[in-house]
Amino acid sequence: VHPTAVRRTSPIVVQSEQTSYTNDHITSKFTSRGAEVAIVEGQYIVTPTAKPFEFRTARKVAKTGLMMIGWGGNNGSTLSATILANRHNIIWHTKSGVQQPNYIGSLLRASTVSIGVDPATGKDVYVPVSDVLPMVHPNDLVLGGWDISGARMDEAMKRAQVLDWDLQRQVMPHMADLGSPLPSIYYPDFIAANQEARADNVIPGTDKQAHLEHIRADIRRFKEQHGLGRAVIFWTANTERYSEIIPGVNDTADNLLAAIKASHSEVSPSTLFAVAAILEGEPFVNGAPQNTFVPGVIELAERLQSFIGGDDLKSGQTKLKSVLAEFLVNAGIKPLSIASYNHLGNNDGHNLSAEPQFKSKEISKSSVVDDMVNANALLFKPPQPGAPAGSKAAKGEHPDHIVVIKYVPAVGDSKRAIDEYYSEIFCGGRSTINIFNECEDSLLATPLILDLTILTELLTRIKYRDASAGKDFKPLYPVLSLLSYMLKAPLVKPGTDVVNSLNRQRNALEAFLKACIGLEGSSDLLLETRIW
Ligand code: NAD
Repeated sequence: VHPTAVRRTSPIVVQSEQTSYTNDHITSKFTSRGAEVAIVEGQYIVTPTAKPFEFRTARKVAKTGLMMIGWGGNNGSTLSATILANRHNIIWHTKSGVQQPNYIGSLLRASTVSIGVDPATGKDVYVPVSDVLPMVHPNDLVLGGWDISGARMDEAMKRAQVLDWDLQRQVMPHMADLGSPLPSIYYPDFIAANQEARADNVIPGTDKQAHLEHIRADIRRFKEQHGLGRAVIFWTANTERYSEIIPGVNDTADNLLAAIKASHSEVSPSTLFAVAAILEGEPFVNGAPQNTFVPGVIELAERLQSFIGGDDLKSGQTKLKSVLAEFLVNAGIKPLSIASYNHLGNNDGHNLSAEPQFKSKEISKSSVVDDMVNANALLFKPPQPGAPAGSKAAKGEHPDHIVVIKYVPAVGDSKRAIDEYYSEIFCGGRSTINIFNECEDSLLATPLILDLTILTELLTRIKYRDASAGKDFKPLYPVLSLLSYMLKAPLVKPGTDVVNSLNRQRNALEAFLKACIGLEGSSDLLLETRIW
């Protein structure tokens, strides 16, 4: 296309041989640089590597729906009301003044990335992350979903007790227009017994194959009704207990499909929703900690090249932990223990007060410092091969790490988190850092759900090709680990390492988005400031 046409249709135009534009696509050449290391007789032999790739991004953003499971909960209702407030530009009064709607807390819409330097001033030029590639605007998302509670969305918002009354009052008619969530799948064994009173909107029967087909039909109907090109299916329902991984039941795609046909008791509602989305070719994101993605789900997603991402929104305490633990370890300080305590009073807290559901959250919260610890063998002794099985030496050294969650109804949606970081410093000294973190849970989670949805939609439009082998363009691998920044326990391609460090997760995302327009990832080398 002509350069002026690109100028009209794209906020950023890259002028280089690396990047080309057509009406339909942005195509970029990218060299993935790394190094291979061999350890020979105690010496590191390093060979730099360079592999050429091309990325091709479809420029047309599909009309996108967001179908939430747990739509009537605190996250689902808060997300819907705040999108409507933004869409209709509703301003409201609080006791401290007039408040405008915004998207603060969204990496895509409220944070920036440097795309280079203005030669006249020598200063970096920053753009909103959402300008790097064409992305759906949150105001344009078509909202829908399921809930086992049939309360209309305006009533659900009121029940959540998250938003200021003056905002609720004004957004109420728009929320009422959304109607009620669709009936959902309820297997009481998977969530806390204390949720039973809410379950007045459930798909009848116990036939899991029929439930799967019901959900698939819901997705198809929603897409048709609204003329959607894409529907992101998002679990923001109650945390379920873990599903047992049973050989022959959920360990392979075929076994899982057969287990659904046989209505096996270990197939959870969230796994059924994930399978429904995969079979419909629509992406599925898991915002809660349970193991929805049993091995059979991952294999099915691979087989059908359908996208999945998860697990568990990383909103407060864990986000800070993935920054603080990395700071300590990278500063050469040795965390000996990390003790985390939370209390909260919303329905999520109520559900998590039951042991099996708490267990899912505990597992999700506990692996967050693993990659920092594994990267530093100077501070933490790595696992010793040949050490007696189960011994400390066989497991490798690790800080003591505990997580406690308590339900305190009075504090409602305002979660309190107390964290103690106890570390060894120089020559036997000790350091204790205490953090007290108080935040409105659903107002932290909502922008993450939006970022995950918008990024997921984008990643379905990006294809890549290995340029060295002259291969054809193909979609990314189905497990979208580029979503890790927003997730507590990132799901990654089986056999690859999980990255928990928030900085590294953000760098990866920035580097990837920039690579898709033919720019190098951000470098903090700033060589020109270090030389004559
Ligand atoms: P919530 O309890 O207010 O909402 C959950 C909703 O899910 C409820 O309306 C409930 O009726 C519904 N539900 C339960 N089982 C269902 C099913 N099988 N099908 C459809 N609907 C079902 O909770 P919330 O505060 O909105 O949080 C939602 C989820 O997100 C929880 O699992 C929570 O652990 C997770 N999460 C939240 C945050 C946060 O900061 N808010 C952070 C990380 C993870």
